[in-house]
Amino acid sequence: MIKEYICIVCPRGCRVNVDENLNVSGNQCQRGKTYALNEMKSPTRILTTTIKTTFQDMPRVSCKTDKAIPKSLLFAAMKIINQMTIDKSMYIGDIVIENILDTGANVVLTKSIKESTNEEIYFSD
Ligand code: SF4
Repeated sequence: MIKEYICIVCPRGCRVNVDENLNVSGNQCQRGKTYALNEMKSPTRILTTTIKTTFQDMPRVSCKTDKAIPKSLLFAAMKIINQMTIDKSMYIGDIVIENILDTGANVVLTKSIKESTNEEIYFSD
């Protein structure tokens, strides 16, 4: 049985076929072959989501894994992330969860979040 994958390595989006003998066709470069074989054997994804915060002005902040993790672990990783709450100022790139599920990937913020200070903001001309 032939399996078809859309290669997402570059914007060209080739349709790559892999047959039962792991012969690959349709790819326009070697990266597509590697991608399709990885998809067949152990698909991985970057997990992009949000984490709860205690800040009223930003109740959730965006985050992602800093590298792809096995697709089969995405729900388990989401469960861990959903148990987290950020209660202090943090910055883009800061690690929120290190080595999630022993994947070697860290969950990092993709946006900075600052504790509300109740300071008034003045604009100058
Ligand atoms: S096979 Fe190569 S050219 Fe085609 S989408 Fe993948 S990376 Fe791009």
